Amino acid sequence: MKSLPLVPVEAFIFGASEPRRNDMENWSKRTRAVHAGTRRSQYGEMAEAVFLTQGFKYDSPEQAEARFIESGRDEFIYARYGNPTVAMFEDRIAALEGTEDAFATASGMAAVNGALTSMLKTGDHVVSSRALFGSCLYILEDILPRFGVEVTFVDGTDMDAWRDAIRDDTKAVFLETVANPTLEVIDLAAVAEVAHAKGATVIVDNVFATPVFSDAVAQGADVVVYSATKHIDGQGRVLGGVICGTQEFIRKTVEPYLKHTGGSLSPFNAWVLLKGLETMDLRCTAQAQTALALASDLEGHEKLEAVLYPYLASHPQNAIATRQMSAGGTVIALDIKGGQDAAFRFLNALEIVSISNNLGDSKSLVTHPKTTTHQRLSDEQRAQLGITDGMVRLSIGLEDVSDLLDDIQTALSMI
Ligand SMILES: *Cc1c(COP(=O)(O)O)cnc(C)c1O
Repeated sequence: MKSLPLVPVEAFIFGASEPRRNDMENWSKRTRAVHAGTRRSQYGEMAEAVFLTQGFKYDSPEQAEARFIESGRDEFIYARYGNPTVAMFEDRIAALEGTEDAFATASGMAAVNGALTSMLKTGDHVVSSRALFGSCLYILEDILPRFGVEVTFVDGTDMDAWRDAIRDDTKAVFLETVANPTLEVIDLAAVAEVAHAKGATVIVDNVFATPVFSDAVAQGADVVVYSATKHIDGQGRVLGGVICGTQEFIRKTVEPYLKHTGGSLSPFNAWVLLKGLETMDLRCTAQAQTALALASDLEGHEKLEAVLYPYLASHPQNAIATRQMSAGGTVIALDIKGGQDAAFRFLNALEIVSISNNLGDSKSLVTHPKTTTHQRLSDEQRAQLGITDGMVRLSIGLEDVSDLLDDIQTALSMI
């Protein structure tokens, strides 16, 4: 049986269609987040279709052969290589991020690993900030050196340290623009300038800054990586990740590595994330407004040693944060007086905020990094990163700000 005639594809991809009155390049991020990358079948469905299929049928052996030689962006072979729903998600996030292309992955870690491993080989040198998400640190500290990649760690806020560490032969620079859980902010433009002078590729894990509040490519990032699990889903449902970069990097370096090693995103998860992108701006903007209000109200509280939030004037890198990000993000860190005991009493007393180590959810979440996400580190490493016994990380959700403030203040009073 032959397939139906090829489905008309209404593709809003950079350069894919003839010029339109409203060419996507002129659209704002909010409009791109709703329309970019859309592909429609012959049924004209409004909501994007979930193409929950592993394989794709060819009309003839000649067509199969041709596709294995070279397949276009809308010619699919096998879901590990690509899928229409996944392609819609990739094109939409690339349009938002302002990169030529993107490759979607099964999780944020598949994206971080894919971006680094696909481009590195034995003998290469990498410079990375030290304050990293635990699994990112594991890749840079344990896995890459096992394959003969040399990694130098620096304090990301110390520009002299970056200048000293980046060498003529440095292949890549890796950083999280806003560090977890201390919320230190790294000056991306300054690091990129040093890296580019030596020809190094700048890879940014941009989860905490979010695609909404940052413009990492304009500030010098060559490759931007997201855990889509966080704000892109935004409702705590699926795992996913994405690598954004030039078409050359994505299709010639990243895709061959990931399509053969198996880190591809499931079409169902791609659909959830695609719909997540449509509301991401509204959600993140509301969450960041609540985070700033809470951080401001809690600053100076008698039970707190410190309140850390990039948009507070007291934040050590506040000037960089306000220049680099259009809002302070959706995460706050509190340093509670009285160490771990006091922090645990605070967590146990919270009623609206749930104890969970995830972030970017519409539900507010709290975690104690020392005993969970950063448990693996030595006391010395934690001290170096500024992770105290009393530190808790709050991921602010979509609840009402006064309900959250009440919950947090009541829990603080019960310590
Ligand atoms: C969550 C997270 C990751 C990993 O993402 P997964 O989707 O859990 O694999 C990587 N980097 C940062 C900064 C994160 O917050």
